[in-house]
Amino acid sequence: MHVLDATGNLQLLPASVFCTERCTRTTEDTKEKIDKVLSKFKTISDQTTKQLADVIDYVEKIQNDLSNIPEENELSVAQSLMLSQCMKKVKDTSGKAAADHKELHGSVSKVGKAIDRNFTQDFGVVNKDETFCGLDQPDLVNQVICQHFFRQGMLDIGEALIREAGVDIADKSKEPFFEMNRILEALKNGDLQPALSWAYDNRQLLRDNHSSLQFKLQRLQFIQLLRGGPGKQAEMLAYARNFEPFATQHEKEIQQLMGSLLYVNSGVDNSPYAHLLQPIQWADICDVFTRDACALLGLSIESPLTLGINAGCKALPALLNIKQVMLQRQCTDVWSNKDELPVEVNLGAEYRFHSIFACPILRQQSTDSNPPMRLICGHIISRDALNKLANGNKVKCPYCPVEQSPTDAKVVYF
Ligand SMILES: [Zn+2]
Repeated sequence: MHVLDATGNLQLLPASVFCTERCTRTTEDTKEKIDKVLSKFKTISDQTTKQLADVIDYVEKIQNDLSNIPEENELSVAQSLMLSQCMKKVKDTSGKAAADHKELHGSVSKVGKAIDRNFTQDFGVVNKDETFCGLDQPDLVNQVICQHFFRQGMLDIGEALIREAGVDIADKSKEPFFEMNRILEALKNGDLQPALSWAYDNRQLLRDNHSSLQFKLQRLQFIQLLRGGPGKQAEMLAYARNFEPFATQHEKEIQQLMGSLLYVNSGVDNSPYAHLLQPIQWADICDVFTRDACALLGLSIESPLTLGINAGCKALPALLNIKQVMLQRQCTDVWSNKDELPVEVNLGAEYRFHSIFACPILRQQSTDSNPPMRLICGHIISRDALNKLANGNKVKCPYCPVEQSPTDAKVVYF
């Protein structure tokens, strides 16, 4: 089974996702074939790149030699021979590249066949047709896909989809993604400026969100100066004034930065502050920026599409099993008439986003139509339980037991 990872790449799901021993074996079998293709692809790619570069050099050399001959002169026998040899070499090289490509294609199609052979292809049984059909649904799906591409920085693909599928996405909703990607791209290239000015413009909001992004960016800017050696010492001292607003919150980190100044002349590389120069600082800042910028813009850190697909893939084996059991016992309707699965599919903590409330009286999970209700004594039970316990306009809390009016109970939102 393949899933899209956070960067939009296709990845093979870990074998643990599949429940039976047979599944694990077939996953390994397919993975082996994929590894083989990948290694073959690399070898052929390396060889072809080298051969093409050689041939281009050769052609350029001949072109150069021939350009020195005056135009009215005819080619000598040796030169004609050289030309025909060159043509043969070009033809051989392109022929070999085509043959390699054909061979690779064969291996790739073997992988496709292995996947078809080893994995369930028909997931239609776990799908509800009305989820993706209808007037608005296709457009909604396209919107989600577009947003995914924008999020991953694949702006041209997103734009192409908008154009070709006629997706209705307001420019305003694209801008945050564009800006975030532009800043992230700059950060990856070691350019702090766009991120610094973004953090400066949003400093109040970041502070309200308890984000330390601005400090971390300035810290990295200081480290960049530190890299510059003794020549940058005066600039570093001047820049250190920018840390003043962060003095109480980041005292220790600022002390460390100041301490590193002592080693500017003898070399920070061989000092207790060498860790400041490590590349991990840059990877960290990209993570912090993505997390804090997403929080500020009201976006989730991971693309909802990636998350949805990954969660779906994780749940598939269980869903297929449930469906099988339901078909055998002929009780298919327990699934189709509710927005809820008949059993809980545990996807692990990373896929849990909301607190859930289970009524202590009826032992049911709350829903929109049966929400948790807070009684005036502070105890919470579900609305159905409240209605069952109510006697006219009176209800006795099953826990404390304070007598009260059911109308005083308030809906609780998680
Ligand atoms: Zn109570």
